[in-house]
Amino acid sequence: MSVFDRLTGQRDVVTALRAAVAGDGMTHAWLFTGPPGSGRSVAARAFASALLCADGGCGTCTSCRQSAATTHPNLVVVAPAGLSISVDEARRVVRQAALSAAGGSTHVVVVEDADRLTEQAANAWLKAIEEPEAGCVFLLCAPSPEDLPPTIRSRCRLVTLRLPSADDVAEVLERSGVDAPTARWAAAAAQGHVGRARALAVDAAAREQREQALRVPARLATVGEALAAAADLVEAAEAEADRRTKEAAAAETESFVETVGKGRGTAGLYSDLAKKQRSRETRARRDSLDRALVDLAAWYRDVLALQVGSTVGLVNTDQADAIRLAAADGAPESTMRRIEAVLSCREAIAANVTPLLAVEQLTLALRSA
Ligand SMILES: [Zn+2]
Repeated sequence: MSVFDRLTGQRDVVTALRAAVAGDGMTHAWLFTGPPGSGRSVAARAFASALLCADGGCGTCTSCRQSAATTHPNLVVVAPAGLSISVDEARRVVRQAALSAAGGSTHVVVVEDADRLTEQAANAWLKAIEEPEAGCVFLLCAPSPEDLPPTIRSRCRLVTLRLPSADDVAEVLERSGVDAPTARWAAAAAQGHVGRARALAVDAAAREQREQALRVPARLATVGEALAAAADLVEAAEAEADRRTKEAAAAETESFVETVGKGRGTAGLYSDLAKKQRSRETRARRDSLDRALVDLAAWYRDVLALQVGSTVGLVNTDQADAIRLAAADGAPESTMRRIEAVLSCREAIAANVTPLLAVEQLTLALRSA
């Protein structure tokens, strides 16, 4: 067993990381990039475990177990609670890492979603990377190198992850006990995104949300219907996200009350916590809606594939009948316009346009394309 077993379809990356753990090509700053779902933070965390383990990442010793549970004293994982990583948090972590490495041991800092750093926070990391304390290792994760300031990325060794193939993903699901037909379907539908594939395989709510998205093309007959489809899509995404975040937030508040109490002078702490939780909720809702839009875009891509006679297999195998009907019923040019409309909607939401407004604009555009 090895901590690298969890990396799906990344043979070259694993080879390079193992070599670095053994001292070949090791450096103090790394940038893990790859599309969402390729496992950037899984790879960074596996590498961190391997660097901290006396046995190169055995996956079973106390150190590896602590790394996996993020309780290792020499490992800090920074994940933005809200929409960005604050400068205070960055400074605090850099100080802590320097202190711990000064004791002579390796200290690893993993920054997930480094593309969501504020400019000031990015500067705090840059300073730490420019003048590294001996023993400190920084592992940053971002979708692409261009998501980070050139001053930071030029100082990092780049690790490029690729999206695992559907076969790779299906194999992982089967190993964790999912039956073969479900694993194959979920792997194809999730388009290489391991976490999404797992959710589709085991979570009825995730499947329901996907179906909601794929019902949109059949709900465009009238303007009223198109607007209703938009509202349902946004609502389903919010419900899916809230189900995940509300529970975690309640548990967090509870443990906060235990630690901080309700005494005088704590009001500010509670309002900070509430602010953090709201911003996390907003982000989860946005991510959930984005996944629904990715599903919808894939549906139209399947339609386009049939229209142009492509021999590439369908992503949405369970939707073959509806996709065939849509393909026979329209022209590739209008399918292209629809795919573009979905992509513009994703961009609009990423740029903070009100989700309902953006999705209404989308369903109206799909109708008239
Ligand atoms: Zn170990």
